[in-house]
Amino acid sequence: MKQLLEKRIANGVVVHEKIRLSPYTTMKVGGPADFYVQVHTSDALMRAIQAVRELDIPYFLLGCGANIVIGDLGFRGVVIHNRSKHISIDGNLVTAESGAIMYPDLIEQTASHGLSGLEHYVGIPSTVGGALWQNLHFLSPAPDRERTMFIEEVLDYADLLTQENILQRVGVDYFEFGYDDSILHYRDDIVLSACFRLEQNNQALIHKVMNENLSWRALRHPDLKSEPSVGSIFKKIQGIGAGRLIDQCGLKGASYGGMVVTHRHANIIVNQGDGTAANLQALINFVQKEVAQQTGYHLETEIEFVGEFNLPTKGMPVFLPRPEGLVTAEELAANQS
Ligand SMILES: Cc1cc2nc3c(=O)[nH]c(=O)nc-3n(C[C@H](O)[C@H](O)[C@H](O)COP(=O)(O)OP(=O)(O)OC[C@H]3O[C@@H](n4cnc5c(N)ncnc54)[C@H](O)[C@@H]3O)c2cc1C
Repeated sequence: MKQLLEKRIANGVVVHEKIRLSPYTTMKVGGPADFYVQVHTSDALMRAIQAVRELDIPYFLLGCGANIVIGDLGFRGVVIHNRSKHISIDGNLVTAESGAIMYPDLIEQTASHGLSGLEHYVGIPSTVGGALWQNLHFLSPAPDRERTMFIEEVLDYADLLTQENILQRVGVDYFEFGYDDSILHYRDDIVLSACFRLEQNNQALIHKVMNENLSWRALRHPDLKSEPSVGSIFKKIQGIGAGRLIDQCGLKGASYGGMVVTHRHANIIVNQGDGTAANLQALINFVQKEVAQQTGYHLETEIEFVGEFNLPTKGMPVFLPRPEGLVTAEELAANQS
């Protein structure tokens, strides 16, 4: 199969076997992929997708792995890791291959050209493809932060390899964007590149927004380098944040194995180093059950589960103490309202 895939994808792209996926996700969990391919151009991405479709092999397209949890048993099929990164700027139009990293790569470049529109999304781990899949979002600039901004607002068009294997240029409407949602959740279209229409603005103002947003995140979110996570675990419930419910139910610090509901932010679970997907699933089940029992609300996960999973860890969690001196995201939010 390895040789067959390499022949079909061509141009020297190497197919690896039995590669552990945990290093390629922000949560740092996930067993081996049967086959693993890195593609460095949108052409190679297109050929890899066409090859796995022709050979009828299960596949998964991986970006930064920031919104997915891969099972401890890994993935049976081919993981195509999108590292196509080319970015070009023509006036206020910015075209990026879909594996381009939003921050720092794309946003630093647009900011240095005085182009505004993407700076709101600094500090969020994402490829361009993942950003369209998710309709990447963040709050509007300080001090008001009165609304949520979405990447759809600056998307001009995208080039896709559609589910039907057709190369197609599509506009914003095609994506049927919603909150954490787009057509990419329901159709197996592959984003090859995206073009953003940005606005000229004062570079100092753009950097001000970037710095304020990075500081906002640093105060509320665990640092991905030392505390791997997948961002928010549960979807927002209208009017009440999932984190606030989890906090009210006294579930911060709950832990199975290396996974813990962090005291910093109740809707984030961090991997303390040796956490597994089985630990994470046990913790998610525990939080859902407790919140439902105590409040009547059912929390739904907003992350994607990929590949094969062991059964969740059995038993009850242990509770880890709150670190001294920590100011939590929930306390910061309460002080501001
Ligand atoms: C610490 C942290 C903070 C976060 N904060 C935010 C936030 O403020 N706002 C927010 O919106 N999100 C946030 N997230 C979630 C995450 O960053 C986004 O969902 C991001 O867009 C995921 O992109 P990715 O490249 O990692 O995609 P992956 O996680 O690798 O993939 C996610 C899905 O997208 C699909 N996909 C990837 N590339 C393509 C493509 N080219 N074509 C078609 N489908 C594709 C994958 O197949 C998969 O189904 C946060 C995550 C973390 C870890």
